Amino acid sequence: MVSINQIISLCKRRGFIFPSSEIYGGFGSGYDFGPLGVEMKNNIKRAWCDEMTKKQNLPVGEIVGLDAGILMSPKIWQASGHLTAGFADELVECKKCHKRFKMDELDSSPTAQNDNGLKCPDCDGELTKPKKFNLMMKTFVGPVEDESSTTYLRPETCQGIYVNFLNVMETMRLKIPFGIAQIGKAFRNEITPKDFIFRTREFEQMEMQWFCEPSKANEWFEYWKEQRLNWYADLGLKKENIRTIEVPKQDRAHYAQRQIDIEYKFPFGWKEIEGIHNRGDYDLSNHSKHSGKELNYLDEQSGKKYIPHIIETSVGVERILFAFLCDAYTEIKGARTKTTQAVKETEMVLKLDKQLAPIKAAVLPLVKNKPELVKKAKQIYQLLKPRLACQYDETGSIGRRYRRQDEIGTITAITIDFDTLKDNTVTTRDRDTMKQKRVKINDLREVIGV
Ligand code: ATP
Repeated sequence: MVSINQIISLCKRRGFIFPSSEIYGGFGSGYDFGPLGVEMKNNIKRAWCDEMTKKQNLPVGEIVGLDAGILMSPKIWQASGHLTAGFADELVECKKCHKRFKMDELDSSPTAQNDNGLKCPDCDGELTKPKKFNLMMKTFVGPVEDESSTTYLRPETCQGIYVNFLNVMETMRLKIPFGIAQIGKAFRNEITPKDFIFRTREFEQMEMQWFCEPSKANEWFEYWKEQRLNWYADLGLKKENIRTIEVPKQDRAHYAQRQIDIEYKFPFGWKEIEGIHNRGDYDLSNHSKHSGKELNYLDEQSGKKYIPHIIETSVGVERILFAFLCDAYTEIKGARTKTTQAVKETEMVLKLDKQLAPIKAAVLPLVKNKPELVKKAKQIYQLLKPRLACQYDETGSIGRRYRRQDEIGTITAITIDFDTLKDNTVTTRDRDTMKQKRVKINDLREVIGV
């Protein structure tokens, strides 16, 4: 199995992900996405958005998009329970080394305890009593920094959906059931950001809220669970690396009547990548109560008025990007490419799904010291570039260039040689099968298949 360090090293080396504020020594365990990371992130977001708003072949119901603000009225967070009840972790500190830990991450088995209860996992020191720590990031709106100007960076994107429920339903003339999908940044002042991009303080969520009749909520919960699992399978996540966990009452989010976590088998263990929640009428009822605005649905056929129940699917972009990278990371013993240096070496291929691969094609002139080959290769690059993400590379042996492209998951390598000048054909090489084909330049897009 791939190690977390292999993934971190690949991401840094190949321009997927860099440590935040690196020249200043880093910042808050944050990360910046480099050129390939951005491409891949955008591919994930596009795949999710298409899945939700275009590909769902629902017997009833539509899913539409929304892009609400990161900064919203602080009243929203009062109503949602984030300022009060639920949105806090228990924090303990080691009295000796002063490291802080999330209470629910500590090992509570007898061997991990001393006379004073749980002990510090790093130095065995005594721990302080757990303190509640709210995860919301505070900020001020306007020039005066006081209580009345305080608000919060949203810790989840879905509240923007709930407070726009009426706006969206009325303007789009939607009938229940329907969904609202949103992608955007969320912020949590995590006590222990860790495991690379798995837990960070700033991340992107892709959330879909499905508004339905209360009596149908359980059925829709099952439906969305299946749909989400199918989505991961379609994008190539290995079946053995994915599972679902029914979350018991005491561990559920404060708003959830039922919760299933979709987990991925990361190098550091099984961890949640997506939550599916039956939020009941928790959110719309609370916003209705706090805002004084009725957030009901009138069923015209039956004349019945009710607060819709909500099934939520909620996933972090960076977390699944990380899962897709781990899943695709493949080491192959012995040479795949026929260069003398490569013999007996282990080679690495990133077997990402075609939709997710950051670069779809690489354009490679066989040699760089023949101007006519370079000119032709650049023409082909210019031809493809507006239509699909591609790279031009002329440095190093052709074998070495193939290996560089394999490492970043490029689907097809296109080599331009002397025959190209005569008959307008090129050699394509498939990342996974390594099969080479002679292809007409005009047929390239079809052959690449994206
Ligand atoms: P965890 O238990 O790991 O803290 P959570 O149960 O609080 O996660 P949710 O509130 O259900 O997470 O958020 C939905 C999704 O958002 C998660 O499944 C995850 O993919 C993503 N997510 C949540 N917190 C973070 C974070 N700090 N960094 C990156 N992604 C996150």
